[in-house]
Amino acid sequence: MLPISTPAASKAGPLAKVKIDLDGHEQFIYKIRCSVCVVRSHRNWSAYRPGGDNGFIAAMDRWVFHLRDKHAGTDAPCMAFLSAAQQRLQLRREIQEANPTAHPADTNT
Ligand SMILES: [Zn+2]
Repeated sequence: MLPISTPAASKAGPLAKVKIDLDGHEQFIYKIRCSVCVVRSHRNWSAYRPGGDNGFIAAMDRWVFHLRDKHAGTDAPCMAFLSAAQQRLQLRREIQEANPTAHPADTNT
């Protein structure tokens, strides 16, 4: 287990299962899985992002939005990041509007 997983898991709150993998190119992959929500009949909802700190932040942003939408009232420390997550989402949308040929970062979950 990598040392970052402990604080990440505690911030994500009791519903999250945080996992950090290495892909075939020695790159971190952050996965945050919801222990409650099941999508597509049998798989748990999850956010999944490769990369370093940016990947971790992007996965956590997705998780924060998921908690807000599906588990309002859940007491998770990461909800403190909600306004920052919304600002990052807004920024990504503006970048994409300015450059529509860029690959959207938020379509795979
Ligand atoms: Zn959920």
